[in-house]
Amino acid sequence: MTLERFDVEAIRREFPVLHQEVHGKPLVYLDSAASCQKPQSVIDAIGRFYAHDYANIHRGLHSLSERATHQFEAVREKVRGFINASDVHEIVFVRGATEGINLVARSWGSRYLGPGDEVLLSAMEHHANIVPWQMICQERGARVRVIPMNDRGELELDRLAELVNDRTRLIGLVHVSNALGTVNDVRKVIEHAHGRGIPVLLDAAQSVPHSRVDVQELGCDFLVFSGHKTYGPTGCGVLYGRQILLEAMPPFQGGGDMIRSVSFEETTYNKSPWRFEAGTPDIAGFIGLGAAIDWIERVGIEAIGAHEADLLDHALSRLDEVPGMRKIGEARQRAGAISFTLDGIHPHDLGTILDREGIAVRVGHHCAQPIMRHFGVQATARASFAAYNTRADVDALIDGIHVVREFFGA
Ligand code: PLP
Repeated sequence: MTLERFDVEAIRREFPVLHQEVHGKPLVYLDSAASCQKPQSVIDAIGRFYAHDYANIHRGLHSLSERATHQFEAVREKVRGFINASDVHEIVFVRGATEGINLVARSWGSRYLGPGDEVLLSAMEHHANIVPWQMICQERGARVRVIPMNDRGELELDRLAELVNDRTRLIGLVHVSNALGTVNDVRKVIEHAHGRGIPVLLDAAQSVPHSRVDVQELGCDFLVFSGHKTYGPTGCGVLYGRQILLEAMPPFQGGGDMIRSVSFEETTYNKSPWRFEAGTPDIAGFIGLGAAIDWIERVGIEAIGAHEADLLDHALSRLDEVPGMRKIGEARQRAGAISFTLDGIHPHDLGTILDREGIAVRVGHHCAQPIMRHFGVQATARASFAAYNTRADVDALIDGIHVVREFFGA
C-alpha cells in the first residue's frame, strides 16, 4: 500500500478495539508509543495457534510439537527478513526491549567490562537503556557516561570525539526517543564508534514500528525492539546481535533449551540464539509477532511512516494554536510522539479529563526521568501515533485540550 493508496479507514476496520466508546465518547487512542493496538489478523493467528497447533516447542517428537516448533522458528526467519539481519542465528527471542538490553548488559557486560571502563549512553535514554548498564557497571567497577542534549531535545553529537576515549567499551543509544520523538543520527554515532572498534547497541523500540530499520545498512552491533509496540502481542521482543558477538557471549539465564548437555559436574551450552533462550518462551506471542510483521509488510512500513509524518505535522501545527502550550522537545528530525505541558495544569489532570472525553494519551515521566529533569518538568502529556490514527484524532485531541483549559478556567 503506497501513501496514495493508504486507506486509513480500511486499516481502522482491522482493529476491533478502536470501535468502542469510552465514557460515552468514541475512543481516540493516542498512546501507541506505550503499546500499540492489534489488528484482527494478529488476534486470529494467536487464537488459531492455540486452537489447532499448540504444544511446547523444540523438545517434542509428536506432530503438534513439530508443528509448533516449525511455526515458531519460521517467525525467527520472518524477523530476520524484517530487519534484514544476515543470519537467522542473529535473532534472539526475548520478552521485550527491556529484556534484550538486560541480556546484553549482563552477558556481554560481564565478559567485556572491567574496572575503569566506560559505557557511553545518551541523555535521552529510556530507563531500560540506563538501569541495566548502571547495574553491570557498578558490579564491574566501570562507569556510565552520557552524551548531552540541547534544549531542542537533540543530542550534541559534535561532542562524541571528546566523550569517546580508549576506555569506552560500548555505546548504547535510543534510535527514536519515546519522550521527545527525536530521531537520532545513529549512523553518525555508529561510524564514529566503529572507527575506534567500539560496538553500538540501538534501542529501536520506537523506530521499528514506524520506519524501515535495516541492521546491515545501519551497521549496528546490537538492536532491540518490542513486539507489543509493533502491532504484536505483549511478552515477545527481539534482540539482534552480530553473530560474532553473540557467539562469544556467555549465557544470560540458565535452564532448559539453552544447553547442549547437563550433568552435575559440567554443563555445555547450546549455540546462539538458543543459548540465550532458557525456558519455555511465549510461543503464541511469537506466532502473533509473525502475524504482526506480515500485517506491517502488507500495509508497507514506508506508507505507515509517511502517514504518521503527516499526522505529526498536523498535530505540531494545531498544538501551536493552544495558549499556554509548551512542547517538550522540538528536534528537527522527529517521529511518532509529541510531549507537551499546559501552563498551570498538571499533566495528570490533563490526562484524566482527556480520558473523560474518550481520548487516551500518556501522562507521566515516560520512563525517562533524566529527560524530564533536563526540561525542568516532573511529567508531560504525550500523544503518539500509529497507522490507524487520523487527522480527526488529532483534532479531537485539540478539542479535548480546550475542554481541559475551560475546566481550569485557563
Ligand atoms: N526503549 C524505549 C525507547 C521505549 O519506549 C520502551 C517502552 O516504552 C522501552 C525501551 C521498553 O520496552 P518494553 O517495556 O517493551 O521492554
